[in-house]
Amino acid sequence: KLGCELNEFNLIKTTNVFNETSVKGVYAAGDITSPMQVIAAAVFQGSVAAGGLNHSLIMEDFV
Ligand SMILES: Cc1cc2nc3c(=O)[nH]c(=O)nc-3n(C[C@H](O)[C@H](O)[C@H](O)COP(=O)(O)OP(=O)(O)OC[C@H]3O[C@@H](n4cnc5c(N)ncnc54)[C@H](O)[C@@H]3O)c2cc1C
Repeated sequence: KLGCELNEFNLIKTTNVFNETSVKGVYAAGDITSPMQVIAAAVFQGSVAAGGLNHSLIMEDFV
């Protein structure tokens, strides 16, 4: 519904190190992004996405 691009595995494609999707401001993590579907990967990706989202919000407010 948000229009996020999918990859060759039909999972949500992420475009940078912070797990942002092809839609600016939309981040994804966990099973929906990775063929490696384990809790450890989901937790790691979630923390990275949260960091990226926080960073983008701070930049929006102060730049
Ligand atoms: C039977 C089974 C056994 C497993 N055993 C292990 C194991 O031993 N060790 C291990 O590391 N991993 C295991 N896994 C994998 C692990 O469960 C997943 O990798 C992990 O739960 C992924 O977390 P997630 O947050 O990405 O997705 P999920 O845990 O699937 O969370 C996604 C959430 O989003 C909700 N949701 C979906 N669509 C919407 C919507 N439109 N609106 C709002 N909410 C929505 C869902 O209801 C769900 O609660 C197992 C998986 C299964 C199925």
